[in-house]
Amino acid sequence: MEQTVAAEPLEAFLSAQQAGIAQTLESVEMWSLNTIAHYPPTPQSLEWDRANEPTPARFFAAIRVNPTLPYRLYVDEPPAQSVSGRSLLPWQSLSFLSGGNSQLATRYRALAAGDPVTIAEVIASASDEPDFGMDVGLFEDNGTAFGAVYGFGETPFGNDNLDYGSQAPFHMGFYHLDWLTRMAQPDLLRTYPLWRIALFGELADLAFQTGHDYWGWRFLGWGLHYVGDLTQPYHAVPLPGVSTFDGLLLVARGQTGEAIQLVSNRHGVIESYQYHRLTRALVAGDWSAPILLAVSAQPTETPLSYDAMVHALTAESVEAAASFDAAIEANVPERFVSDPNFEWTGSGYESGVVEHVLEQKGPVAVQRLDNAVIVQLQRFSVVASRWIARGGASAE
Ligand SMILES: [Zn+2]
Repeated sequence: MEQTVAAEPLEAFLSAQQAGIAQTLESVEMWSLNTIAHYPPTPQSLEWDRANEPTPARFFAAIRVNPTLPYRLYVDEPPAQSVSGRSLLPWQSLSFLSGGNSQLATRYRALAAGDPVTIAEVIASASDEPDFGMDVGLFEDNGTAFGAVYGFGETPFGNDNLDYGSQAPFHMGFYHLDWLTRMAQPDLLRTYPLWRIALFGELADLAFQTGHDYWGWRFLGWGLHYVGDLTQPYHAVPLPGVSTFDGLLLVARGQTGEAIQLVSNRHGVIESYQYHRLTRALVAGDWSAPILLAVSAQPTETPLSYDAMVHALTAESVEAAASFDAAIEANVPERFVSDPNFEWTGSGYESGVVEHVLEQKGPVAVQRLDNAVIVQLQRFSVVASRWIARGGASAE
């Protein structure tokens, strides 16, 4: 993957492919209406129309993302690489969010139009971009002008303590709820990662087929984010480790708030933990570390349809959820994962999470958490390599 592509401004892709984009978005819309239950149709006034100027603002409205992000040309610098002599972009020039620990620690480098950049860098950088705020503020009760017209209705669920809380229904997909939960909590059905995956997959295909490889890989990277999210049990099951019956009891007793806080904290803790275990192995160049092998050694290239892929990978995530949740509950200090009055995000414990586990739960806890994370990363790696193979296939 050392091949490079030339960075291309979005404006150039949009004006060159105005007609192709219209066709692609129309067919994604048809597909979504037919395939995705509860898909809210794109309001006509937002449609990408050949009669309009092909501007980024029109494009963001047509694909219904947050239009206030800069969506600039940039890449993440790999953690192990020295950046001496290169100018770095502050996080605030990429996102309006306060930023997670991993994002604040990442070094971002601006690209100019035409700069060569490796495919691996484009995919890796773009795959984090949907967490920059692309899906924040899209519901009509989020107090944004665009949310008011996007047609997604009111926020179905999410943790209001988080500045990115309203993106949850786009990054979580509860595609395997039992009938009882569907009946009692119908708002959980209003999730949209399958739509995002199909949308960015089809835009990538269009870009590759028309010689806009940079945008092909960037769209593929955007789609990969949602694919990756869905391999994470906390993105595929609303309350891991809680049975349907107990879940309904919580609803009946008005205790869902506590349960949601615990789930949100476990979700955050394990992502911080995984991030630190992975980056430390990367920085140390420890290529035989099991946690790195889990991401790298899974070549599969069989293509699958969007819905079959999402259905299969979320089924596996659902199956993994209870034991994953139990491993986190048993091996992380109680305060972080079993106290509903505690908010993990912004607690200040994120960067030392591995040390806190080690101190309070011992080395065996680190071993057990590593093993739990490795199982999820292996599943991710299989789907990710399949997803990235789309690029090679449609570029030929
Ligand atoms: Zn996400």
